[in-house]
Amino acid sequence: MNRVFNFSAGPAVLPEEVLKTAADEMLDYKGSGMSVMEMSHRGKVYDAVIKEAEQDLRDLIGIPDNYSVLFLQGGGHTQFAMVPLNLMKNGKAAYIITGQWAKKACKEASKYGEAIAVASSADRNFAYIPDCSDLPIPEDADYVYICENNTIYGTVYKELPNTKGKILVSDMSSCFLSRPIDVTKYGLIFAGAQKNVGPAGVTIVIIRNDLIRDDLPESVPTMLQYKTHADAGSLYNTPPCYNIYMCGLVFKWLKKLGGLEAMQAKNEAKAAKFYEYLDSSKLFKGTVDVKDRSLMNVPFVTGDKDLDAEFVKKAEAAGLVSLKGHRTVGGMRASIYNAMPEAGVDALIAFMKQFEEEHTA
Ligand SMILES: *Cc1c(COP(=O)(O)O)cnc(C)c1O
Repeated sequence: MNRVFNFSAGPAVLPEEVLKTAADEMLDYKGSGMSVMEMSHRGKVYDAVIKEAEQDLRDLIGIPDNYSVLFLQGGGHTQFAMVPLNLMKNGKAAYIITGQWAKKACKEASKYGEAIAVASSADRNFAYIPDCSDLPIPEDADYVYICENNTIYGTVYKELPNTKGKILVSDMSSCFLSRPIDVTKYGLIFAGAQKNVGPAGVTIVIIRNDLIRDDLPESVPTMLQYKTHADAGSLYNTPPCYNIYMCGLVFKWLKKLGGLEAMQAKNEAKAAKFYEYLDSSKLFKGTVDVKDRSLMNVPFVTGDKDLDAEFVKKAEAAGLVSLKGHRTVGGMRASIYNAMPEAGVDALIAFMKQFEEEHTA
């Protein structure tokens, strides 16, 4: 077996310990004689799996009782539609455009109502988070929407926007469970699992109960109503059973590590090390404003496309994989999610130093 250091933005690295547990339990889950993949989602064994996953998530984050936790399908993209379909009452919402995901969410919402871009950092290719202290949020906006960590561009909100009393909706796909959060500041949080939590195929939604409406127009598909899933404990139809089980294993791993404060400390240490090297390098440089740097996704460039390509190729040969940057930024991107061990960051820095020595006179 030869595991690489995988810097993919998603689907991304998972904790080795979790993968080993899943392997051990693959053929016979806790004496059931079946894999979790093979059992009824209505059976007693699976019921415990999904309930425990929810409880562990609630414990980790400290989710208040007046919020529901939903395990859904359809990825982040389905949430781009479900959010406006369920939350637009006045048919108006404010979107802060900090990258491609927020832009796509805004465009999707405009199918269902008026989606107003109240701020944007498109002028500098999304290399920063705009000032959100006093935005022109309409009086009758139903919510304010953000993409909290911008996976492609490598920025994160260090401070939440002033929503002027409106509900805050956050796409946390690429920073979910990377640090503690205060759920009460949000009306709705969603995260596709494949970045920082588990395998692709499950999307976690945390929604304040009073936002779960039962007066939606008939035309809203049953599967796209939060109420459908909230009422059924995420078991209205067959859920992504195995993926939820995998997420549950990750939640247990996080608890064992000491929870989200401990995870944040690890993430900050990893990111600090990497940014420190990046700032000292004569060859590589970061692409975003220092104040808005993400702890999870770090884009960087040499300024020379051919050299970037050579770096990515040689890194891969050295067991440091998926470092190619997104096509809209170019260069490289190192995603250093929860499951990336510090040793992976150390190995990347060492490799970059060596490459730098070889390519600077
Ligand atoms: C990856 C990603 C998405 C898209 O998720 P899908 O599950 O592919 O639909 C949305 N938002 C953010 C922040 C992402 O990183």
